[in-house]
Amino acid sequence: MLKHNLGYPRIGRQRQLKKVSEQYWAGKITSEKLFRTATELRQKHWEIQQRAGLDLIPCNDFSFYDQVLDMSFLFGVIPERYAPMSALRGLDIDLYFAMARGCQKEGLDLTAMEMTKWFDTNYHYIVPEFTLDQSFSIASTKIFDEFDQAKKTLIKIPKPVLIGPVSYLLLGKEKESGFHRIDLIHKLTPVYIELLKRLKNQGAEWVQFDEPFLVLDLTEKEREAFRYTYQEISKGSQGMRFLLATYFGGLDENITLAANLPVKALHLDLVRAPYQLDAVLKNIPEGRMLSLGVIDGRNIWKNNYAQSIEQIRMAKDVLGEDRLMIAPSCSLLHIPFDLDLETSIHPEIKDHMAFAHQKLREIDELDQIINGNVRLLELNRQSRERTARSTLIHDQVVKQRVANATGQDVRRYSPFATRKKIQQEYFQLPLFPTTTIGSFPQTPEIRQYRARLKNGEWTQQQYNEAIEQATKDTIHRQEEIGLDVLVHGEFERNDMVEYFGEQLKGFLSTQNGWVQSYGSRCVKPPVIYGDVSRPRDMTVRWSRFAQAQTKKLMKGMLTGPVTILQWSFVRNDQPHIITAQQIAWAIRDEVQALERAGIRIIQIDEPAIREGLPLKRKDWDDYLGWAIKAFRIASSGVGDHTQIHTHMCYSEFNDILDHIARMDADVITIETSRSQMKLLEAFAKFRYPNEIGPGVYDIHSPRVPTVEEMFHLLERAMTHLPAKNIWVNPDCGLKTRKWPETTEALKNMVKAAKRAREKWD
Ligand code: GLN
Ligand code: ZN
Repeated sequence: MLKHNLGYPRIGRQRQLKKVSEQYWAGKITSEKLFRTATELRQKHWEIQQRAGLDLIPCNDFSFYDQVLDMSFLFGVIPERYAPMSALRGLDIDLYFAMARGCQKEGLDLTAMEMTKWFDTNYHYIVPEFTLDQSFSIASTKIFDEFDQAKKTLIKIPKPVLIGPVSYLLLGKEKESGFHRIDLIHKLTPVYIELLKRLKNQGAEWVQFDEPFLVLDLTEKEREAFRYTYQEISKGSQGMRFLLATYFGGLDENITLAANLPVKALHLDLVRAPYQLDAVLKNIPEGRMLSLGVIDGRNIWKNNYAQSIEQIRMAKDVLGEDRLMIAPSCSLLHIPFDLDLETSIHPEIKDHMAFAHQKLREIDELDQIINGNVRLLELNRQSRERTARSTLIHDQVVKQRVANATGQDVRRYSPFATRKKIQQEYFQLPLFPTTTIGSFPQTPEIRQYRARLKNGEWTQQQYNEAIEQATKDTIHRQEEIGLDVLVHGEFERNDMVEYFGEQLKGFLSTQNGWVQSYGSRCVKPPVIYGDVSRPRDMTVRWSRFAQAQTKKLMKGMLTGPVTILQWSFVRNDQPHIITAQQIAWAIRDEVQALERAGIRIIQIDEPAIREGLPLKRKDWDDYLGWAIKAFRIASSGVGDHTQIHTHMCYSEFNDILDHIARMDADVITIETSRSQMKLLEAFAKFRYPNEIGPGVYDIHSPRVPTVEEMFHLLERAMTHLPAKNIWVNPDCGLKTRKWPETTEALKNMVKAAKRAREKWD
């Protein structure tokens, strides 16, 4: 069996690439220093993989920013607006970064290319921009240089990684009308062939084409593009071996298509879609090799060897060992580097975990087991048995609670219409009530408070006092601005998920578990390792303090179960639906504690509900079923007089509105300003029954919106919704803004709301 890897994380064990990139952007180091660090990192990562015993090691999986942007750069797909820059200096690293991040210097003002999520991961890629007369050529030498470097470093010949031609086109966008980007396949294919010739001349034997679109629903035209391009490529590059990598799902209805493309090997994600192995084995043509992605490249748990060995044996029986390869399910980009860097994780939990470094070892161990090393299999079995028995992981009380839930637990006491009346009477809010989404500017001072607490300079009490003062100031500012429903500002939170992860039982935080989110931005997702419960109040102290500062209504602020789950590494020994419900019960406890503390409006943020939608439509209902249920468990434990809000930023949910309605939040605040309230058409058509706060201004920009424009947006909202259902608020939290523009913008917003009241009351 060939042991290989699809891609390695590139940011560096100590996030070296992040650090040098940011220094370079700030003009503090030269490009030579940047390149030197990159060269060293690549070298290190190849050596690690070589020591792990891999036969085929990827190259060109390194990137200064993003691998899709690298492809655009490679093929000279440079949008017209960068011409002044490329004319001046050619395709250099500054142009590359300008495309990724925009550029405002030397008289230039170039906007960045769009960035969007890489399938259902938390990684973001730079969207290629295509024009009608798009041309392609080989415009960069990165791939050749890195192949050379890898060849010098490694004993065996490295395997260059490319995004395949169909996926590359589909990842992009047409920047003008009159064509579909997939039609560009005829122009693009010859350039791939030329590229492959050059790689072959350099000595490349294997090339990996990533084609994740093969696990999505494809049109006939897209299928045809696959057949066409791989036919041409195989004709045009005799003697090379191609590995077609599919991941993040099963091939399903594309099995015949994928299995029959003329490549040497096909890679399957057997973690996400173990069921597909059987069907693929039945369909695979003579001579084709199969790469079994049995190690989870998306999560941080040890492999279940018994299960992987069963899959490998099944394939071996049909194909024989010579036609098999083993690998992680996808690139290891999505998991942290090395578990050995973690010194504070309980050994019982750590025993159950594996980061990129450890996953490579697992590939080798699986190979050894196939070759007769039963001891390794036994050790893995024992470790799994310990995990199954661990009292750190398993809490019978929590399990029972989820199991015993009844229909009443997922329903508010009365329907919305009744609740609305009660709440109206109680709150006496004006028409078009104004509020904000929760956070207020996280100034450098606030961040410093946290740093001081962490490094021991401050006691917990000093820290609490400083946060209280910031909260108090913010409440007074909101009173001056004239907002109706106030918030405490979320100054005590570093991050909306991490904050809860640190307080809930069943969660742990890592010290170095960084994963690239985009460019130099890395995130450290919490790890959900065990049954989740809430040992003590999490936010009550701050909300109670905040409410005591004002006569106005104070809104409590929580993160919802689906978002917490979505932005964490989740245990894989039970279905997500169970873990989601456990988190939901913990949040419900907090909601009830807030209610008892006198907080009568409670917001449960669920910005990740939409992005969690599965890649295939057929899986949507299942996901939405448990996601909505989790939200309802979290939100249904309060009386009719307590008003539940929810907030979602990424609001493209025209096609899931019925599910959003089923969440039954009393008020939902959403991002609508950039689309000029267009989204509300769908709410109107659907006759969305509950109250809505359509964002009236974009918080991503420091620009202060005028009273007129916000009033105008409210007028537009009025064409879709009854006045009595409309709230007035910004698109999202104000954490990334500065105070001056925040105050001005909110003052204008309050004026716009007043004007709306005068007109429609
Ligand atoms: N309450 C959060 C905030 O205001 C919501 C953030 C979000 O939607 N991502 O920061
Ligand atoms: Zn938001």
